[in-house]
Amino acid sequence: MDDWREAQEVLVMDGGIKVPYSWSAGETGTTYLESLRDDKKFLGTRCPECGIVYHIPRRNCPDCFSECAEWVELGSSGELVTYTITRKHHPQLSPLKGVFGYAVIKLDGADTGFVHLISEFDESQLAKGARVEAVFAGEREGSILDVRYFRPVKAVS
Ligand SMILES: [Zn+2]
Repeated sequence: MDDWREAQEVLVMDGGIKVPYSWSAGETGTTYLESLRDDKKFLGTRCPECGIVYHIPRRNCPDCFSECAEWVELGSSGELVTYTITRKHHPQLSPLKGVFGYAVIKLDGADTGFVHLISEFDESQLAKGARVEAVFAGEREGSILDVRYFRPVKAVS
């Protein structure tokens, strides 16, 4: 009798695992998210030793471990540090319809960047250093997605 492992074709089935979870945003994260939700304002924290303004805010400086107790209000505009454009829409994975992108954005007043979505752009508007502004959701619930995405700042004529 043949060994079944040699005689039988092995089939492969595609699947996925959904792993819902919840985690505490902590004191710093909650203050940050409440500000986005209630006031549409971005907050960062400043390290008293390095002077670095962190956005997303940090409780402790990752460089010198000092406590970052000073809150700093940041602009809702900033500059593109880097980005990539997503051209293929996946109904389960795409947070926005149409062409959008992921970008690292450094808000005005911050020394560090963070990742968020970009949309409403013409590709000619995108470049390192390009100005972008936040577009807030109408109904906000205390999530980073209370900011729907960033878009290029329209030139003042
Ligand atoms: Zn520091």
